[in-house]
Amino acid sequence: MSKFDIKDILANYDKNNLTIATVCSHSSLQIFNGAKKEGFNTIGIAVGEKRKFYDAFPLAKPDEFIIVDNYKEIFSLTDELAEKNSIIIPHGSFVEYLGPKNFLNLELPTFGNRNVLMWESDRNKEREWLEGSNLTMPMEIKNPKDIDIPVIVKYHGAKGGKGFFIAKTYEEFKQRIDKNKSFTIQEFVLGTRYYLHYFYSPIRENAYKLSKGSLQLLSMDRRDETTIDEVQRLGSIQELEEIGIHPTFVVTGNIPIVIRESLLPKVFSMGERVVEKSLKLFGGIIGSFCLETVVTETLDFKVFEISARIVAGTNPYASGSPYSEYIQNNLSTGRRIAQEIKFAAKHDILHEILS
Ligand code: ATP
Repeated sequence: MSKFDIKDILANYDKNNLTIATVCSHSSLQIFNGAKKEGFNTIGIAVGEKRKFYDAFPLAKPDEFIIVDNYKEIFSLTDELAEKNSIIIPHGSFVEYLGPKNFLNLELPTFGNRNVLMWESDRNKEREWLEGSNLTMPMEIKNPKDIDIPVIVKYHGAKGGKGFFIAKTYEEFKQRIDKNKSFTIQEFVLGTRYYLHYFYSPIRENAYKLSKGSLQLLSMDRRDETTIDEVQRLGSIQELEEIGIHPTFVVTGNIPIVIRESLLPKVFSMGERVVEKSLKLFGGIIGSFCLETVVTETLDFKVFEISARIVAGTNPYASGSPYSEYIQNNLSTGRRIAQEIKFAAKHDILHEILS
């Protein structure tokens, strides 16, 4: 995949003096806080100017800021970051701002397996992977004329649910669709949403065992999405649509949640199958990942998306979650990432978790 060998870069690194670096946004407070707890140096890459609000959070403020005019400038900083033994922790905004293709060419050790990108960013490949893992996804409707159930229309590349809309008929679809954009039509699954945050380690055997390594469940959340999650305060969706107000799906925050305990075997089994399939398809989804699901009234999971790195839904758990508390006190996903790097550095196997 990449034109460079991560092992060559790592060969020049001082493994006892590693730095964890990420872009100042998304889940960076948690990443820096977790890294500090594990004794790493930290660098925050910020666009424009130093983010002043970090001063208000001393335990999550990076030791050093690098200010760039735009994210692409990170490419001119790779030597400087490598000299500081930097390991990049990618998060959703990092990949988004840099652009997936650029991200693949970033010549710095990066936590996780970058090969996952092509399986995650292409909705057809994502479906091949998830359905190949025997997960149930919402039905896809290829021809808008076939809409005879409520559907959600998703524009490609529209992050954070922007522009998505619900249609119940072909007529409604026609009224709302922006033909200039490519889109997918999915069955709108009725149920409750759970965003499941896993951590897969190919190098540790001390959790839910897989064919290689082991799996943890660190937390789960529900996204708070405006306006869909509050629109009913004003009237029924139907009433509002009649006067031209349509619900939207823009993420504004995250709400902590737990799932009924009897569903945990299913939760682990789904995570297991996704990881096992990923090992076969592209060498494994390493580190944190999230399955975005709806649980139906028959207690079945429908998975509408996978995110292959730390997601912002882990942010409510800076000091641990009702699940991570059964692993270790104060274990956030950011801290778990730092621990994985520390363990790999100690055993000289960083190349197994970085790409
Ligand atoms: P991200 O990449 O940030 O995860 P996205 O823009 O790719 O988001 P999705 O996560 O696919 O978008 O969907 C956005 C929101 O729309 C979800 O959080 C959920 O509330 C709702 N949603 C998505 N798919 C379905 C579905 N099939 N049925 C019901 N609701 C859905």
